[in-house]
Amino acid sequence: MSDMGTETVTYSLCGNGTETASYYVDVASFTVEFMERIREEKSIEEFNYYIAEKELEPIDSAVYGLEFLMIGVLWRVYGRRAVAGSMYVGKLLSSVYGLRSRSAIARSAIDRLKGIAGTTILARNRKHESTIDLKQFGRLLGWLRASGEFEQESKRLVIWFDFLTARTPGESQNKLLRAVRLASWFEQRSEERLGCYTLRVDAYIENNRERLKWKENRVFCSRERVEYHLNMVGAEIMNRAFHDSFAATKEKRVFLPVCMRSKSGEACKAVKEGEGYLCKSCSKYCQVNMITAMAKEYGCKVLIIPHASTAFGHHRVREGEVGIVGVACVLNLISGGYKARELGYQPQCVLLHNSGCIQHWHPTGIKTSIDLDRLKDIMNMLPLQADKQI
Ligand code: SF4
Repeated sequence: MSDMGTETVTYSLCGNGTETASYYVDVASFTVEFMERIREEKSIEEFNYYIAEKELEPIDSAVYGLEFLMIGVLWRVYGRRAVAGSMYVGKLLSSVYGLRSRSAIARSAIDRLKGIAGTTILARNRKHESTIDLKQFGRLLGWLRASGEFEQESKRLVIWFDFLTARTPGESQNKLLRAVRLASWFEQRSEERLGCYTLRVDAYIENNRERLKWKENRVFCSRERVEYHLNMVGAEIMNRAFHDSFAATKEKRVFLPVCMRSKSGEACKAVKEGEGYLCKSCSKYCQVNMITAMAKEYGCKVLIIPHASTAFGHHRVREGEVGIVGVACVLNLISGGYKARELGYQPQCVLLHNSGCIQHWHPTGIKTSIDLDRLKDIMNMLPLQADKQI
């Protein structure tokens, strides 16, 4: 395992320097700018009413604003692929992914299928951009589900689809076009404000295009810079939206990814517990060990989680009782927040400084780490730095 800091695979919260302090200032202030921008957006207020009227579980207006932006960003990134693909094949693929958790054989077969689909039918691209309307938005939803990478996001966007279906065609198209215009502004502005943290993404995609062909993580590892920025702002918004409910939970747990261990899988002495592993403190230089000791003082349990998809298990916990601090790389933040909520957890998240796990990003793995003060602030239930500035 290589040392952290020697190589930036895609993103780095240190930007061009060695500290993450400016990242947190930058992302907080850009999130404020984004919130200002959508303050007058009527669709968000109307969506709020729709959720209440249909008695759906409410989240938070700021999260709805994020979802409105997500519609536009995902259309701009995947729209041309979505309208080029077959809706029937898309439906078939998305129904197959549900069988993945049945057995190791099913998992490996479905991963192979996902790799083939990601390189063939899902990669087909219309040359010219189509104009978004409700029908095209439906195709986008189909593509996102068929990719196997946007399970949580598409569940939320289906609610937006239903909300838009209840409007006249002109009204719904107008709202979708506004979401796309917002995304166009976001793409340009986020690059100015957060672009210094994602400088290697384009080069990574270019250099790994051939290697990722037929791989099940092709779509995931080829995600664009604007999607990193979307997740960065999304994490800020979700941390603020869920802060109070997290603070009110009786029990708190911290989930860490395996790429944070200072030793290889064979040398690490962690022992299996439930869906994860408990650190056995075999190295004082390992950040997992430091976090486990720190969390103990707050009465929090720390688990090392082998894969983001299994982090929360499959069973719901009693609503509002368990708070989770999920540590993850940028691209998993929004989906992780939704998944935690779906299973009854109250989430907060801390970003890994960089991506580096062996499953996705690096042939031998790069050790990752986090800002311990950030985690401490959350465990202390202190206002986050972002809140102090807003
Ligand atoms: S300190 Fe803990 S997580 Fe780190 S290598 Fe040892 S047992 Fe594994």
